[in-house]
Amino acid sequence: MDLFSMFSLQGKTALVAGASRGIGAAIAQAVAAAGARTLLASRSLAELEKQATRLRAAGHDAAALALDVRDSASIRACFRAAADADVLINVAGTNIRKPFEQYTKQEYDFLLQTNLHGLVELTQLVGARMIERGRGGKILFIGSLMSLVGLPYVTVYGITKGALGQLTKTLAAEWGRHNIQVNCIAPGFILTDLNRKMWESAAMTEWLAGAQATPRLGRPEEVAPLAVFLSGPGSDFITGQIIPVDGGYTTTRVWPHAPE
Ligand code: NAP
Repeated sequence: MDLFSMFSLQGKTALVAGASRGIGAAIAQAVAAAGARTLLASRSLAELEKQATRLRAAGHDAAALALDVRDSASIRACFRAAADADVLINVAGTNIRKPFEQYTKQEYDFLLQTNLHGLVELTQLVGARMIERGRGGKILFIGSLMSLVGLPYVTVYGITKGALGQLTKTLAAEWGRHNIQVNCIAPGFILTDLNRKMWESAAMTEWLAGAQATPRLGRPEEVAPLAVFLSGPGSDFITGQIIPVDGGYTTTRVWPHAPE
């Protein structure tokens, strides 16, 4: 395989579920640039249309699709429009930060539905079709550091992201025989609308500088290249993995010691 082919998504159709902004928008741009026919899906159809138009103007193949992962009818309609997807990238997600004992049932259900149940439903439909077509496929989940470690005040989010990590492993085991690879990207602290307000705090940015090897927040476009790689043929022997893109957060600490 030549270098270009390893990373190329030419001839593939990629459905990006949760593509209107942030990490999903960056991933959609990158998979389109890698040659995939890219289907950008979420609730913000007008924004998705704008992005698809920009991608087409740049010579890529892109279209917008309505998708609300909290609504089964919407998930089925999106699947019907994207039934030939070779790659499914599950990005949609949200968060509510508060003490565990204060979550309402409504907030709990909202997070479980948005971050987990809807993506499970979509993956069942797309995956069943991949199996039926017999051409293999790639399934990606966007997990989180909370798929791997714990931080306070994000317990319910952690439940959903931990579940996506475990689903990645079990589904990889089950669908490997169909040549479907299932992997999970665990982004670290990436500045987006989901957390912009939280990172306005100087205490938070100072803490981050001491907490990881790369002393800054990440950008959505720094997560996208791994999504391209895990969607393409160069990653055919990688499956069931949760891979952090986190500036070293899960593996490093910084200390004041310096040799004399
Ligand atoms: P974001 O900018 O708020 O984007 C969230 C995306 O999810 C949007 O495209 C949104 O689209 C979509 N979405 C939300 N609810 C949806 C629904 N009901 N149906 C369909 N799509 C829905 O946040 P982000 O930071 O890029 O987050 C993207 C993913 O990365 C999430 O799963 C998040 O948990 C994960 N993540 C983020 C970070 C980080 O530091 N930013 C770290 C780890 C993991 P619409 O509003 O148009 O529907």
